[in-house]
Amino acid sequence: MSKSDTQKPSIENLLHENRKFKPQKKSFSHYFLQDMSHYLKLYKNSIKNPESFWTRMASEHLDFFKKWKKVFAWKDCKAQWFLGATLNVSYNCLDRHVQSDRKNKAALIWEGEPGETRTLTYLQLSLEVAKCANMLKGIGLHKGDKIAIYMPLIPEAVIAMLACTRIGVVHTVVFGGFSSSSLRDRILDSNCKALITADGGFRKGSAVKMKEMADEALKETPSIKNVIVVKRTHEKVKMFPKRDIWWHELAENYSDSCVAEQLAAEHPLFILYTSGTTGKPKGLMHTTAGYLLGVTLTTKYLFDIKETDIFWCTADVGWVTGHSYLVYGPLSCGATVFMYEGAPIYPEPDRFWKMIAKHKVTILYTAPTAIRSFIRLGKELPKKHDLSSLRLLGTVGEPINPEAWIWYYEVIGNKKCPIVDTWWQTETGAVMIAPFSGVTPTKPGSATLPMFGIEPIILNKDGTPAKKKDGGFLCIKKPWPYMARTIYGDHERYKKTYWQEIEGVYFTGDGARQDKDGYFWIMGRVDDVINVSGHRLGTMEIESAAVEHPLVAECAVVGRPDAIKGQGIVAFITLKKSANINPMLKEEIAKFIIKQIGALARPDEIRFSDSLPKTRSGKIMRRLLRELATTGDIKGDTTTLEDFSVLEKLREKDED
Ligand code: ATP
Ligand code: MG
Repeated sequence: MSKSDTQKPSIENLLHENRKFKPQKKSFSHYFLQDMSHYLKLYKNSIKNPESFWTRMASEHLDFFKKWKKVFAWKDCKAQWFLGATLNVSYNCLDRHVQSDRKNKAALIWEGEPGETRTLTYLQLSLEVAKCANMLKGIGLHKGDKIAIYMPLIPEAVIAMLACTRIGVVHTVVFGGFSSSSLRDRILDSNCKALITADGGFRKGSAVKMKEMADEALKETPSIKNVIVVKRTHEKVKMFPKRDIWWHELAENYSDSCVAEQLAAEHPLFILYTSGTTGKPKGLMHTTAGYLLGVTLTTKYLFDIKETDIFWCTADVGWVTGHSYLVYGPLSCGATVFMYEGAPIYPEPDRFWKMIAKHKVTILYTAPTAIRSFIRLGKELPKKHDLSSLRLLGTVGEPINPEAWIWYYEVIGNKKCPIVDTWWQTETGAVMIAPFSGVTPTKPGSATLPMFGIEPIILNKDGTPAKKKDGGFLCIKKPWPYMARTIYGDHERYKKTYWQEIEGVYFTGDGARQDKDGYFWIMGRVDDVINVSGHRLGTMEIESAAVEHPLVAECAVVGRPDAIKGQGIVAFITLKKSANINPMLKEEIAKFIIKQIGALARPDEIRFSDSLPKTRSGKIMRRLLRELATTGDIKGDTTTLEDFSVLEKLREKDED
């Protein structure tokens, strides 16, 4: 960053979104919060007296074996919370419900891609988890050992995660769609002793050969001694004697009773790699008490979980969203989780909506990328199904463009479900900024206000406060219990990336601004900011303007060097299925963008593309597009890229 950059407001604000949605009286039954003034009172209190706030929350919401002696300590950018306490995550997610009225309540309702279903009650899930924990002990794993989980979205993935937590084994879940080299790198980086995988999983009608992929990875991972394999697809796989064991065969040897280990509050819970949107993935380490407190509180309060809810978080367990809101958060709250194995549009493009109607899902939590792809397919598909069970809609992963927000609200939520746009990161462990459903008035495109105990601030690069409305670097003022404690094996990188970029505060890497109501608007990644004639523009606002055009489905903008302006804007656009490309369409879209946000945002070039390069978790990888627009080629880290053919196609276009 040049010197002049540091003196300016970091990012300029272009988007003027004025729509505001008041919570509807009908859904205004938040069991904890009465209204906004109640929120503000509690929020202020949580910031003023954080230690007493977190103490009260931990006592009220979690079961500990032993209480803490000290709430918080901080040294060398390493936080410790609830020192001296012991607890167990699986105990909180299972045993305490089994001991209550929830014993026979469904904990997990699962549907496989071929259509079969399976329901596990809290009691059944706890027995399976205990058995699996005994299996892990049986193959020689001890407290503190690391294990990789590379599985399709089947109940055994959840069972395996909870089993690890029962005995203090640290899991690294690797997204099942990753290739062997990504799996290998993660196993090597986190030094795992064992792997749990499956013969395969079903995706888009075919059996994905996961075991084969794992075998390839394991050629170069000497630390792995055993592999437990779930039989899912029944395809023939090679089993290596001594190393590989079938889950169902191993299970026969063990009992389904296993006492939960009493683990220290700071015992490592899991290592998880970021999505790799902006660079090489980082292995974030989360610990027991603080993480569990974060996911429990946010699930309870932001989603306002009720006893009758069926909560569907569509993320894979391989991402933090899957960890926090498919597994740990809802189960800690005693909710019913719905989980689906396969592709959203298989065998028919309305599969999602069909399942919501069938299982009477009440809360849907998905990503803007999914919403945009549904918009592209048209509203007739969801309209075919009865979605009246839905009462709340969540979104996460990327800024949601106001246009997509409105579609989600009107078409899926039938204008009666609050939209809960949740801003957070792998590093933050759980949601940081989001509306309290049914309480916080919402604005399309804004994640609204912070969670209790979280103090976001917007700064210039030199650490001075940025002008709120102009925007700057989104930072968090103080440590909070559910943040990652380190990057596994590289605490220096952790310090440098998060705590030293702007001295003394947590640096999120995202740009944001705050409006007059104090609402936060995420403007895009700091790494993606485009500098046009000295004006620093976030990607989100230009993209949001573009997707408001009736024919545009998705847009990614990047900067490329420009001799006069410093940087010029290149917009990569995918059109809606119904769009006819006429020779004037590019000019029309450019004018449309200018009309909404000003001449400064005029794209120097618009490129149409069938799809955009995305991470496996569905986020647009602007850094690859930037490289392509600048040099015509791509050399950056592409290990988390979803579909390599997209790059090939984009390159071909470049040569046209
Ligand atoms: P990497 O850190 O490897 O580049 P990543 O940042 O995509 O990958 P995640 O931790 O999965 O990895 O994603 C967190 C990021 O996702 C946030 O920093 C933010 O940029 C974006 N994000 C998540 N939720 C929202 C949201 N509701 N609104 C805007 N942006 C969001
Ligand atoms: Mg990140």
